[in-house]
Amino acid sequence: MSLEFDHITLAQRVRFGTGKAAENLAAEVERRGSRAVMVIAEIGEADLADRVTARIDVALHHSEVVMHVPAATAEKARAAAQDSGIDLLVSIGGGSTTGLAKAVALTSGLPIVAVPTTYAGSEATNVWGLTEGARKTTGVDDRVLPETVIYDAELTYSLPADLSVASGLNGLAHCVDSLWAPRADPINAALATEGMRTLATGLPQVITDPTAADGRERALYGAYLSAVAFASAGSAMHHKICHVLGGTYDLPHAQTHAIVLPHVLAHNAAAAPEAAGRIAGALGARDAVAGLLRLRDRLGAPKALRDIGLSESDLRGAAELAAAAIPPSNPRPVDVDGVHALLTAAWAGTPPEAAR
Ligand code: NAD
Repeated sequence: MSLEFDHITLAQRVRFGTGKAAENLAAEVERRGSRAVMVIAEIGEADLADRVTARIDVALHHSEVVMHVPAATAEKARAAAQDSGIDLLVSIGGGSTTGLAKAVALTSGLPIVAVPTTYAGSEATNVWGLTEGARKTTGVDDRVLPETVIYDAELTYSLPADLSVASGLNGLAHCVDSLWAPRADPINAALATEGMRTLATGLPQVITDPTAADGRERALYGAYLSAVAFASAGSAMHHKICHVLGGTYDLPHAQTHAIVLPHVLAHNAAAAPEAAGRIAGALGARDAVAGLLRLRDRLGAPKALRDIGLSESDLRGAAELAAAAIPPSNPRPVDVDGVHALLTAAWAGTPPEAAR
């Protein structure tokens, strides 16, 4: 990595405190002088949202949240915000909920306070996503970057173990992919490395000791670092593949990332020795791929795309769409056949190329 770079740090406040979400949100609303708050939270997370908003006045509750933000869902939320004269958006939930708040902010310029309940990391990026038909579009706009993020590990207690694992590996994927992304630089590599180290210690704790705050705090902190690294470095091979699988084939986001990551790492590792060394070190392993596979096994993470809804007949089409989007920064060249082979292994759940 050369020490000539052009790095942008996104401006954002982070309030981190276990059991303190309600207090921190009230302080934030007061500091901003907000008068009409729209709370976006799924119905399934209404209890969580009630706890978090217990100390503020809420002008509007909006609960129609759909994964990958269909355009029609975004339009409804935008209209609701406008009709109620909203001056602050508060999103309480996973990446889908944050994503809806971002869709509203994109056209209205309204500020967002994000209260994440998964490890997806959308709260720390200026990336928005919308789905129209079967095509997911993403873009970058500083208006969608939440101005404040409130992290509270207690909000993750209700996240089922399998989703915690998949979501945490989604965070790890941000770190790994950012090491060979178009704007990879020493600053985002440092954030990614610490993010991997923190997730690799936190996630096993979440599984073995689910009622302890320690592992959950580490996982949330690691997820934040991973998203900051990803927002700075940009989207690379892994995210391009998962973006197609989620947007066009409607696969669940976090599980898709968890399954595909070892295959992309195995594809690139030998051609990116510095990145592979960082990953191995952060995972406490001698070899990056072996370290990731060991972590995946330890966490009981999903292994096969066929188990989460992808048809074998979709592999070729997915490979064509993904291959066209992989940036030139990728350390090892890859064509449609290469992505097809990778996806075929990920679909069947066979170990990645380099580990066979
Ligand atoms: P999600 O928000 O769709 O949540 C998954 C499921 O978990 C939902 O059913 C939700 O109700 C449930 N859930 C969430 N938190 C919970 C909790 N604490 N307790 C119980 N249940 C809970 O999934 P996600 O993986 O967090 O986010 C995925 C979406 O975020 C995708 O659309 C992805 O594209 C987007 N994303 C965007 C960015 C970005 O930078 N723009 C980054 C990461 C992810």
